[in-house]
Amino acid sequence: MTHARGAASGPLGPGLGLQLGRLALGLMLGCCAIVHDSGSAEATERENLKETGFRPLRIAQSPVRWLPRPDGGPIVLRYAIADRDLVDPEAINCGSMRAPAAMFEASRVDMATFRRALAEALLRWQAIADIAFEPAASLDLADIVVGEQAKPTGRAYTNVTLAKTWNGPARPIVAASICLNPEQPWKVGFNGDLGVYDLVHTLTHEIGHAIGLDHPAGRGHVMSFRYDESRTGLSAGDSLGAVTLYGPRVPAAHASTGASAAAARGAHTRPPADAAELGIR
Ligand SMILES: [Zn+2]
Repeated sequence: MTHARGAASGPLGPGLGLQLGRLALGLMLGCCAIVHDSGSAEATERENLKETGFRPLRIAQSPVRWLPRPDGGPIVLRYAIADRDLVDPEAINCGSMRAPAAMFEASRVDMATFRRALAEALLRWQAIADIAFEPAASLDLADIVVGEQAKPTGRAYTNVTLAKTWNGPARPIVAASICLNPEQPWKVGFNGDLGVYDLVHTLTHEIGHAIGLDHPAGRGHVMSFRYDESRTGLSAGDSLGAVTLYGPRVPAAHASTGASAAAARGAHTRPPADAAELGIR
């Protein structure tokens, strides 16, 4: 059917039981076009954000995040690039997606370049926080699906699907979709032309939404809603946001020391973040 993965037809996020159910909540998470309302509460929050540089994504008053696995193991999200048409009537964003192809015609980008850009974007988050990504065996098994918009609008959007019921302070994310506008020009790397967005930066930003981060108040962060090329990679605020949600990444060297790492991680270790793990060729 769709990348929304019906509860009976495929797994949800790692460690998320089918009993959670799903509720599709789309988020207006464009890369660069959304301005938040500025009420007094928001103004106060902005003051707080000056110190943290990040803003947790909240939906209906609840922060959202991918849940830890029941067995205590590290969160590993499976991702896939759309290889066929996907329709999710419940999604507000990315409701109609397809395999990225048209977007390559308008840009000097091909699928191999796109895959590398996506892997690099995922690595940025994986390198700092205790959340990992791996290629899904198939589209239907993916927690995060990336594709191009079938109905082009804006630049890029993220849609998250949330658990219908939950315990604890954070509402679980059980699936996410990221869709890019194929009619916009794309590039890889910065060149000062702010009319053409860097795929790595844009995908990093959208993945940030997909793991539970919103736009912070200030500029200069990957999660800032205005695209700029002032920074390559995550800011301190971006990093703090991911670490606040998922904890710091356990260094590979530490993880390889066995008992101490196992104790630190509750008897679980994680694979090192490297290019091969993310399918870079
Ligand atoms: Zn955004």
